[in-house]
Amino acid sequence: MEKINNSIDRSWIDKFKKPLIISGPCSAESEKQIIETAKRLDTSSVQIFRAGIWKPRTKPNNFEGIGEKGLEWLRKVKKNTGLMIATEVANEEHVKLAISFEVDVLWIGARSTASPFTIQNIADALEKANDKIVLVKNPIHPDVELWIGALERLLGRGIKKLGVIHRGFYTYKNSKYRNQPNWSTLLSFRNILPRIPIICDPSHICGNKEGIFDIAKKAYYFQHEGLMIESHYDPDNAWSDSQQQITPEELLIMLSKLTNIKDKFSKKSQINLDYFRIIIDEIDENIISLLSERMNTSKKLGALKKSLDIDIIQPNRWNSIMNKSIFLGKKLGLDEKFLKELFKVLHQESIKIQNQIR
Ligand code: PEP
Ligand code: MN
Repeated sequence: MEKINNSIDRSWIDKFKKPLIISGPCSAESEKQIIETAKRLDTSSVQIFRAGIWKPRTKPNNFEGIGEKGLEWLRKVKKNTGLMIATEVANEEHVKLAISFEVDVLWIGARSTASPFTIQNIADALEKANDKIVLVKNPIHPDVELWIGALERLLGRGIKKLGVIHRGFYTYKNSKYRNQPNWSTLLSFRNILPRIPIICDPSHICGNKEGIFDIAKKAYYFQHEGLMIESHYDPDNAWSDSQQQITPEELLIMLSKLTNIKDKFSKKSQINLDYFRIIIDEIDENIISLLSERMNTSKKLGALKKSLDIDIIQPNRWNSIMNKSIFLGKKLGLDEKFLKELFKVLHQESIKIQNQIR
């Protein structure tokens, strides 16, 4: 890993003011939207303008990006504002077009990072333009090896100006996030590759405007080096991701609030404490969502027992749950007495819920 870590060229990010702010709409829609959004962004804080030209949509027959003509609008932004421009590429054709329209930063989307064939195809296409800056979003599931594998494929073709984007991970659980942030995965990622710049994408983590500030703040505690935040001149009428986009003016207010926080938390000792607090909060949120899932299942079970006219309390079943949980818990270093008490409380609550149904 040391070889990979040392091959990463950080010169590109070192040239930017920190934090590096990348902003612009989810998708390019019209020339007016692109030019006006860029014009309203404050170029003393935003340094790279983003817009998706080809959009990976979950289902077909949605707006799948404006295509090549949007690249012309991006090039105009670069010329008019001096901002660098960024877009997502997912295949050889995208790479060729982005290069021909002088796109400075290419990002690889979460779905593409999860596919080694796609990454290899992009890496091969970039070999002749390997001085481009490439940002690799996390794969949809928290697989650090797959993520690093993508970086290795790019490095293998001489692409060294690399960074990664934390955009959250798919979760099957009920979650307040569109894509669950995973700070502990990010910490292990950083321990493996300490030189790689990490940028946080609160927009795709939250899926709404309201959560962006909190995630951006946490990204600072975790020493991410930049933020990618979606902005749009008219978010409510955006053609994609309208709930999570903010106006350039709202972005400016948010960034000024973040600057105070960044200064306050730049002391090392506090950062360590915050790491653990944020991770513990994240785990507690997961516990609560699992508890709610468990009790909802108990409710369904209660209804079924009622219709089958079966007793709520089944001693054999309960003993086997208790024994299995103690066995599993002890193997993971948990105290037996603690496990017994915890499962007793869970069982009582479950019985209460099933009784309520009767
Ligand atoms: C995007 O940045 O607009 C995007 C589609 O991102 P992701 O790959 O994180 O879904
Ligand atoms: Mn988007």
